[in-house]
Amino acid sequence: MAGDYHRTMPDAPQGRHRAVRFLIASTLGIAAAAFAGSCSRTEGSARPTTLQDAGVEPGSPYVVVLGTAQDGGLPQIGCGRECCTAARRDPDLRRLVTSLLAVDPVADARYLLDASPHLPEQVERAQPFGVRSATSDRPALFEGIYVTHAHLGHYAGLAYLGREAYGSAETVLHGTPSLLGFLKSNGPWSLLFEAGHLRGEPLPVSDTSPEERVPTDFRQDEQSNSLAISAFQVPHRGEFSDTVGFLIEGPARSLLYIPDIDKWERWDVPIEDWIRVVDYALLDGTFFGPSELPGRPMSEIPHPFIVESMQRLGALPAAERAKVHFTHLNHSNPAADPRSPEAQRVRDAGFTILEEGQIFPL
Ligand SMILES: [Zn+2]
Ligand SMILES: [Zn+2]
Ligand SMILES: [Zn+2]
Repeated sequence: MAGDYHRTMPDAPQGRHRAVRFLIASTLGIAAAAFAGSCSRTEGSARPTTLQDAGVEPGSPYVVVLGTAQDGGLPQIGCGRECCTAARRDPDLRRLVTSLLAVDPVADARYLLDASPHLPEQVERAQPFGVRSATSDRPALFEGIYVTHAHLGHYAGLAYLGREAYGSAETVLHGTPSLLGFLKSNGPWSLLFEAGHLRGEPLPVSDTSPEERVPTDFRQDEQSNSLAISAFQVPHRGEFSDTVGFLIEGPARSLLYIPDIDKWERWDVPIEDWIRVVDYALLDGTFFGPSELPGRPMSEIPHPFIVESMQRLGALPAAERAKVHFTHLNHSNPAADPRSPEAQRVRDAGFTILEEGQIFPL
């Protein structure tokens, strides 16, 4: 597939913190949406199994959840506790590392958000969604890959694009200048660029606040397009790169993706403001509560606990709470098991634990 998928929309002059948006545009015709196929677990909370069930209109963009676990996955390496032995016994309890697929049927394009160590299996899960036209023996698996930051669960899967595995045709990697600089100057990642498997596209970031954000007007674009992805900075430990969250916008709805962030109080943007302006908020739910990792000071791991998020957001109207889906679940998180009392507590409070295979129409 050819064509320019990405175009930078000019900043509004007054937009001090305005995010530069990537409009995903194309002159290509409309591809048939794949109204079939799903993947992953079937137990737990009911969720759509097809695009039709999910309410995706033919030709409209959508997001498919490919993974919901923290960087180490579930089960996690070396864990002999019940959280992981249960998941080894029962594959339905397994969770792959956090990742999303965004499909733009108008542009005939598929985008991966976060390249997890489970990428091979997630490529299989993504297979039924969107139509792919082969342009070489090893065509790019996605029209673009967006990476939040340089921690194991979010970029290690890029290694599979190299010659030891898939040997992909050039794929556009959208990352912050800090992330791209790290990857290009350190092996083995640098080889992916040198050998032509990846091409870096610097992702402008800002500390855009939800109030200053101007929703993308898809009608203003002369070319057909139906998906826009923009990035904003979030606080998170950054040994090798900074960290961003993503806003994915379609003509009808928008989705917020923040898999890794420090406690909400450490961010100068109130999360409630973001929740108000989007339709779905996929938020860091790494840990359920403070007693989860015996022998390890939780102060060293400053994610917002689910119990803290539920308390903070508990006073929001039900419609606002319903937007919140917790993801990036650590293996120790009891709410990762949909049958647990903790998962029930989340549902009773009007929130959702994100499930793999869930589809969000945009
Ligand atoms: Zn992570
Ligand atoms: Zn475990
Ligand atoms: Zn991280």
